[in-house]
Amino acid sequence: MRYAILGTGIVGRTVAARLVSLGHDVVIGTRDPATTLARTEPAATGVPVPPYASWRAEHPQVELLTFAEAARQGEVLVNATGGRVSIDALTAADAGHLEGKVLIDIANPLDFSGGWPPVLDPVNTDSLGELIQRTFPGLRVVKTLNTMTSAVMVEPARVSGDHNVFLSGDDEDAKKEVRELLLSFGWPEASILDLGGIQTARGVEMVLPIWLQLMGKFGHADFNFHIQGA
Ligand code: NAP
Repeated sequence: MRYAILGTGIVGRTVAARLVSLGHDVVIGTRDPATTLARTEPAATGVPVPPYASWRAEHPQVELLTFAEAARQGEVLVNATGGRVSIDALTAADAGHLEGKVLIDIANPLDFSGGWPPVLDPVNTDSLGELIQRTFPGLRVVKTLNTMTSAVMVEPARVSGDHNVFLSGDDEDAKKEVRELLLSFGWPEASILDLGGIQTARGVEMVLPIWLQLMGKFGHADFNFHIQGA
């Protein structure tokens, strides 16, 4: 399977590396490959992320392309862009390259413009998952993996004991495909909770404020939610 990851941050890189380790073809999309490769400073947001070029040197098989070319080549797409710019990134990817494809949406619509803590936008009566599905009706959007840190997404055993990953989406076949991918990442079948249609993305995006509070309290991100009594 050829995956196109939209997003060059820690999430895009971590998911890309895991997919490669599982034998998949992977390309990564960015606004402008030359600009991304020319960056020498670690990304300024959150935990410092090394420049993309150093990651690229360790993963030469993962081609860096424009959002549009990556989306054209990908059979399955992954949204790992900032949640407040995901619509811009997908617009740049070109609706014609999205038609009929599964989009695994990992993004959270966190707005840092007012400082810390960030707020969610959209929220309550809408979600980023729904906004993407509405804006690009040809996509088959599945929201998942957004409720944990990137290392846990692809290696759930980093967190001991039982813990959960959620699925939201309107397309049952798309959710089936994504469930298979989660199983291949090491998620036990019983840990995958299908919440229902894409409207349920509201709930999983709204856990971000408590997730951020917990990270601040613990001083690390290697934790996850476990739903008892499921
Ligand atoms: P990020 O820094 O949030 O996003 C990086 C990507 O956003 C880059 O590819 C960048 O493009 C793109 N971007 C920035 N401004 C843009 C614009 N104006 N138009 C189009 N694209 C733009 O990366 P991240 O930390 O890996 O997080 C990715 C997503 O996953 C976020 O939505 C985040 O909330 C969510 N998430 C993160 C974690 C985590 O562990 N960090 C966990 C769960 C969910 P260029 O490549 O061109 O710079």
